[in-house]
Amino acid sequence: MLQIKNILYAKDLEEAYRAYISEPDSVVLGGCGYLRLGSRKIATAIDLSHLNLDFIEKREDTIEIGAMTTLRAIETSPLTSDLWGGMLANSVSHIVGVQLRNIVTTGGTVAGRYAFSDPITALLALDAKVALFNHGEIDLADFLETKGLRDIVVKITIPDDVRNGAFASIRKSNTDYAILNCAVTVTTDSFRIVVGSRPGKAQRATRAEAYLLANGLNADTASKAGKIAAEELKFGDNPRGKGKYRSAICPVLIERCLAEVHK
Ligand SMILES: Cc1cc2nc3c(=O)[nH]c(=O)nc-3n(C[C@H](O)[C@H](O)[C@H](O)COP(=O)(O)OP(=O)(O)OC[C@H]3O[C@@H](n4cnc5c(N)ncnc54)[C@H](O)[C@@H]3O)c2cc1C
Repeated sequence: MLQIKNILYAKDLEEAYRAYISEPDSVVLGGCGYLRLGSRKIATAIDLSHLNLDFIEKREDTIEIGAMTTLRAIETSPLTSDLWGGMLANSVSHIVGVQLRNIVTTGGTVAGRYAFSDPITALLALDAKVALFNHGEIDLADFLETKGLRDIVVKITIPDDVRNGAFASIRKSNTDYAILNCAVTVTTDSFRIVVGSRPGKAQRATRAEAYLLANGLNADTASKAGKIAAEELKFGDNPRGKGKYRSAICPVLIERCLAEVHK
């Protein structure tokens, strides 16, 4: 069972960050959905819920999502559900149920760097950046490589240049973890294809992206791009599925997403 000795309701991010780096056994709380599944003994749990980090806002050419914004807010806010073909909202809609999605946060999702994560796959395809209190803004792709970095996720920034996007996943049951997930976006001059839950962490299929850029998007190239992606990415086994199965369904998911953005 999770044990928490002290809770600090931080008055500002500076106080939260100081407490986090000065005490090795301190932990930042998101919605505590994942943390509570473990049996950690936490000396100080740092609560960010009084810091106005629960927001989804449109800036001049970006959308910003605060760290304490729940996945349910992403699913229901017109800003995130109407943009990018609804792909970000679709990426969270299979996560357990509304009650959990009303609790779990964007900051906890990104900070957790979960390889099975559905929204991380979608956010990578959207070229999202992570704003950290101490290290400033970095690409989400780079942030995912910084395991062990002690900093506070403040918000996620998404450039508002994507014309269309799509998300797809395969699961044994509707609310199980994905066996494989996939997100695709198209801008005026780029394609992004990201595959996650391989079961390794989400990764771009850059050869398949380059192929689409050179050849354009139609039914034939969508099918070929899916096959190229399956060849360039690595797939492994875990209790939810075998690498061989993942490799076989990868082109199907990519083709489905590409068909959706091509509509
Ligand atoms: C039963 C269950 C099933 C799930 N199924 C799925 C699924 O199918 N697909 C999917 O994509 N996700 C799934 N998730 C994961 C979920 O969507 C969230 O990503 C996860 O719960 C983390 O969010 P949280 O707010 O609960 O974070 P917490 O559990 O509070 O924290 C997670 C980690 O992030 C750190 N942290 C939290 N906030 C910050 C911050 N602002 N700055 C720095 N560090 C921070 C914490 O210290 C901790 O290490 C599932 C979760 C649960 C509990």
